[in-house]
Amino acid sequence: MPSGQKLCSLSCVYCQYGGATNCDDRLPSAADLITEFEHGFAELAARGEVPDRITIAGNGEPTMHPEFHLWAYALADARDRHFGPQVRIGLLSNGLHLQRPSVREAIEDCIDDAAFKLEVGTLPTFEAMYGRSGGAFLRTLDALRELNHFAVQALFVRGPHVDNASDAEVSAWLERLDELKPRIDRVEIFTIAREPDPRAQLEAIPEPELRWIAARTRAAGHRVELIAC
Ligand code: SF4
Repeated sequence: MPSGQKLCSLSCVYCQYGGATNCDDRLPSAADLITEFEHGFAELAARGEVPDRITIAGNGEPTMHPEFHLWAYALADARDRHFGPQVRIGLLSNGLHLQRPSVREAIEDCIDDAAFKLEVGTLPTFEAMYGRSGGAFLRTLDALRELNHFAVQALFVRGPHVDNASDAEVSAWLERLDELKPRIDRVEIFTIAREPDPRAQLEAIPEPELRWIAARTRAAGHRVELIAC
């Protein structure tokens, strides 16, 4: 997405981009994207510069792009030709569109390190956190079971209408992780670093509490990365 625009299927209370906007009519086409990264990769390769990693992310949800599967395969092919397969391709996603088989297949075939948002354990907290019905949560969990492996990103936050760092909520979240355990490569734990909309009245989770959540997650058998306390 161009900077300053957002297209997302969630409205996370902590989103730095503000509320969801519907600007899919301004999305670049797959052909435009492919032209852009072919050009950019060729320029880098001509200078002898090899990226450490290529990450698909954006002002919103990348897998909402209707031609995600087309440009994901083209991206992996361009990576191989310009740099080689040792340059890993990552994806940051909210996971809601894994229900589309073409998205799942492209992720399995083209993405080396996919990370999905999974940071609540109960339907009421899902609804309070993202402004979507709990059915979307259950469908996303089902779709995650179809993947071979992935990372989990979990942002913990507290506010007047939502708290996913409470003892009960963390216990419920760990139960959700347990259902997916063989597929989870690692769990990244963090809190808000950028200023969200002040109307949400959110607080960052203090470092000792994040460490407690990380310790519980490790004790449940997961590899944990505690990020930027
Ligand atoms: S998934 Fe990301 S872009 Fe979408 S609302 Fe949540 S934080 Fe914002």
